[in-house]
Amino acid sequence: MDTSDSTHVDTGSFAALGIDPRIAEALQALGYEEPTPVQRAAIPSLLEGRDVLAQAATGTGKTAAFALPLLTRLGASSRARTAPGVLILVPTRELAMQVAEAVHRYGKPLGLHALAVYGGASMEQQVRALRRGVDVVVATPGRALDHIRRETLQLATLQSVVLDEADEMLDMGFAEELEAILSATPPTRQTALFSATLPPRIAGIAQRHLRNAVPVTVEREVVADGETARVRQVAYVVSRAFKMPALARVLDIEQPTSAIVFCRTRTEVDELSETLGARGLRADALHGGLSQDQRDRVMQRFRAKRVELLIATDVAARGLDVKHVSHVVNFDVPADAETYVHRIGRTGRAGREGVAITLAEPREHRLLRNIERQTGQRIEVSQVPTVADLRAHRRELLRATLREAVLAGGLEPFQGIVESLATEIDIMDLAAAAVKLVATQDDGDEPEIPGAVVREPREGSGAREGGRERGARDGREARTPRAARRDQPWSAVTLWISAGRKLGIRPGDLVGAIANEAGLDASEIGSIQIADGFSTVEVPEARAEDVIAAVKRGKVKGKKVQVRRDRRR
Ligand code: AMP
Repeated sequence: MDTSDSTHVDTGSFAALGIDPRIAEALQALGYEEPTPVQRAAIPSLLEGRDVLAQAATGTGKTAAFALPLLTRLGASSRARTAPGVLILVPTRELAMQVAEAVHRYGKPLGLHALAVYGGASMEQQVRALRRGVDVVVATPGRALDHIRRETLQLATLQSVVLDEADEMLDMGFAEELEAILSATPPTRQTALFSATLPPRIAGIAQRHLRNAVPVTVEREVVADGETARVRQVAYVVSRAFKMPALARVLDIEQPTSAIVFCRTRTEVDELSETLGARGLRADALHGGLSQDQRDRVMQRFRAKRVELLIATDVAARGLDVKHVSHVVNFDVPADAETYVHRIGRTGRAGREGVAITLAEPREHRLLRNIERQTGQRIEVSQVPTVADLRAHRRELLRATLREAVLAGGLEPFQGIVESLATEIDIMDLAAAAVKLVATQDDGDEPEIPGAVVREPREGSGAREGGRERGARDGREARTPRAARRDQPWSAVTLWISAGRKLGIRPGDLVGAIANEAGLDASEIGSIQIADGFSTVEVPEARAEDVIAAVKRGKVKGKKVQVRRDRRR
């Protein structure tokens, strides 16, 4: 194996790494400001056509790390589209759909097409799509082998093969299928193996099927003892649909005087600053899309404490020197420990105490544990505050504010009113009524945020399903432990609802309406998008009709709404 380590290539942009400029441009539109460490490390070798053995977990940007260079190579080769040029093998149908979607997005500027092929779906439809011709096939191993044996998936023109989440595929008992598929591919092909862990069985596969592979491990940063000791590190595990309300609530309780919230993309920065701004928080966006002038103004406002929240990407916040940051928030788990340490190093400075808050999706739990291992510091996992916690906290604040007001004096102008009323009303009732009037905060429409269940990843192997019939197993992929750890262990359908931001709809309203009316558990509700005039909600395919009927029967935020399957997709 080659021991060269390309981690140190320090080129800022994707195009500089050699990614097709048209793809690089599309990435800008997606809000990717710079490559993540695993992308910096893997892309150059993959572009050269070399095999790569990479250790990278979900959340590190691994999908783009292999997809971008392989699509660039595919775009450069003058091949007529008869059979696929890239085959990506993944453990579950959810991942197949997710990766195919990402490949489709990245490959669009080059006119490259991807197809997800997985068990449990119609064979005939997949055969028809394969016949029409695709450039990239993303497949689960069982179904891929079915197609190979029926000769409906041609391998002769394959340029590259990717094994994504290889450890998971082995854990799920796909070792034989992987061997059979790899042996059926052209010996000249390029192979990329991505895996969160590298147990000996992975090394075995690498030895048999990779040639002179470039190892990619993202370098670990050595953190000096005590460097982050004054920073309280907390993580909240919350599913994607509830991230925004969860963050708003955590900020309500923490009351940061000055906080930086880090996001992965520009788009996320813009959305978050808009949402938090709408909730009455003073938030400014800082990302690479702003002019130097705009950035300077944002920084001036933040330094002068005229805004309390700075919502930023890593790139934009680089070199930013602010002394008084009380909180650092990671809206997503950072791709690597180095970024995490760098971000949270912005709080707890100059002997002050700081707080680092991370919002993690259940599937990002492993990433969080990796960061703990690498920094040698504990990240406390906490529950998102409940509506009751929030109410108690607001009351406490109100009490403190009232006490301050009494101590500050200057009450004379109001004493006349109190005296005149005190003759007819009990003074306690009078004071309570006055408090009620100032207690303007209304938490009546706060959604309950369900606690996300985190399952620790299973270690080791298990050819559990070795004896079972292949088709049946492939069809059951959504029920595997791997799938159960993902946010959404079911096949989803998107519903369109005729009420959106203009009607004051929030995710909690939709969850409430669907959970109450259709009897769904909140955890069965997937991604929720709220646009100005409408919203979309992902629900399990099997429950879609129940949900449609129930939402039609009931009301959302007191209003009758229209609901149907989303036709825009
Ligand atoms: P993955 O590790 O492939 O599951 O990717 C995790 C998330 O990071 C996905 O939502 C990607 O869209 C996002 N992502 C990947 N690369 C970048 C990048 N260079 N900048 C910002 N976001 C990224």
